[in-house]
Amino acid sequence: MFSDMDDMYFTNPSEADSVIDEATDRLRDLIKDDVKCVIDAYNKALREKDNLESDIARLNWEKQRIEDDIEAAKIKAEDAKNNYIPSVYINKFVSKYTNGYGPGDKVWAVIRDFNSHPCTFCDATGYVSAKMDDGTEFRAICPKCNGRRTVQNDKYYVSPDKIECVNMKLNFTKNEVSENCWEPLSIVLAKAGGIDPERFFRTEAEAQAKADELNKKEREKS
Ligand SMILES: [Zn+2]
Repeated sequence: MFSDMDDMYFTNPSEADSVIDEATDRLRDLIKDDVKCVIDAYNKALREKDNLESDIARLNWEKQRIEDDIEAAKIKAEDAKNNYIPSVYINKFVSKYTNGYGPGDKVWAVIRDFNSHPCTFCDATGYVSAKMDDGTEFRAICPKCNGRRTVQNDKYYVSPDKIECVNMKLNFTKNEVSENCWEPLSIVLAKAGGIDPERFFRTEAEAQAKADELNKKEREKS
């Protein structure tokens, strides 16, 4: 096809062939480079797509977590609105019925150490022998231990403690709430557990005085 042109421009027809071959090679190389650039760009775009997809998955997960948190906070807020009484009101209400004590207060408790020993009056038999005027003997229940053979001899000591909780029954009317006076209030200490309100005090000295008084009564018993 180039034969006419060859005749016109090239003295040696093979010169035209080599020029064309060279141009073809160069064109091929150029196309190769272009294709390589396109493939590189494509691979880069793929990697970016993967990265973006994992970012989207992560952000979706975070979005879900935040939505869950919001939902939980809403439920908590609703619960607080309906069921929560601020501690300032609780403490005021409780202390009105406990002579000023409230949960968390530090107190001194008078603790009873249960203790018993064998009755010395009846030699721990539970009975004593008695003689009637006519000389007949009979057995009577020991007046000291009442036949139990042991004598209770408790000891009291004082111990620092803390009010864990206060239990009381409440009476609700339309406009007010009050303590149900038929159900005595009970107070639970952290260490001693349920305790008689007469058995704990604000100071160690007051508690010790009460313990001394109770120990004296115990000594008088035996
Ligand atoms: Zn006895």
